[in-house]
Amino acid sequence: MTARLSLLLLAASIAAPVRAHAQADPLTRPYSTEQCSSCVAWNAPHRPVHLFGNTYYVGTEGLGSVLIASPEGHVLIDGALPNSAPQILENIRSLGFDPADVKLILNSHAHFDHAGGIAALQRATGAQVAASAASADVLRSGTVGSNDPQYGTLAAMPPVRGIVAITEGEAIQVGRLSLIPHITAGHTPGGTTWTWRSCEGERCLDFVYADSQTPVSREGFLFGNSAQYPSAVADFQRGFEVLERIPCDVLITPHPAASGFWERVVTAPGGLIDPGACKRYAATARKQLQRRLERERSERH
Ligand SMILES: [Zn+2]
Repeated sequence: MTARLSLLLLAASIAAPVRAHAQADPLTRPYSTEQCSSCVAWNAPHRPVHLFGNTYYVGTEGLGSVLIASPEGHVLIDGALPNSAPQILENIRSLGFDPADVKLILNSHAHFDHAGGIAALQRATGAQVAASAASADVLRSGTVGSNDPQYGTLAAMPPVRGIVAITEGEAIQVGRLSLIPHITAGHTPGGTTWTWRSCEGERCLDFVYADSQTPVSREGFLFGNSAQYPSAVADFQRGFEVLERIPCDVLITPHPAASGFWERVVTAPGGLIDPGACKRYAATARKQLQRRLERERSERH
């Protein structure tokens, strides 16, 4: 063997494990910091938290994921990032549940930071995924359409197969569990808020996993005047009305910090309960949208 060849072989044997690691599991591969500068912070591990009754927080420090458990099977809302999936599965296991008993996975909105982990979670659990029609299109392809206000600025996510369509207001069931989808779009065209009841004995609480309501967009997109998403403002306003109307004892948001979740969870379950939380969440979002539309108008003149 020539020295040159043996050096090449040595280089290959050093490089191979690194390459194999980088190419490991496409469904849980982390985004680079160029793709997502917040992802490392968002994905910081967090222990699972029993919230109340059969409802558990199983997400990361910065990205929500909620398990609703039953003897006939469990429901999981949101999958956070692709590389959050192993943490979510570990959180489910450490609560004493078997991920294989997760029968249904739901989503708030089809962006990589809330839906990126769904493909890996679906593979690990064998669960059905259900989503609004507009979200299902994105989950299937792994990329958002040009009608998404953030189109062109978001990382792609592993595609999800076999998605069941949901109907607004129609409960979706797993055994005795029953969750109601409410379309609260605007942040994305398919954004969905989920509601359910959890009980401890006679005492029941109305839980709301309320979707993101922030008017964030690519450069040049106008919420007030978009050919790609003409109903953006009307969708937001309809969603605000939903959030103001639905019974809401406990508010959870896809980004826990958006609703002061960690401050409230310290004193769970009592401290989690805030029947005014959804109304305030909607009021803040209304103001944000109003400011955004004012800015769009002033920039056009
Ligand atoms: Zn988003």
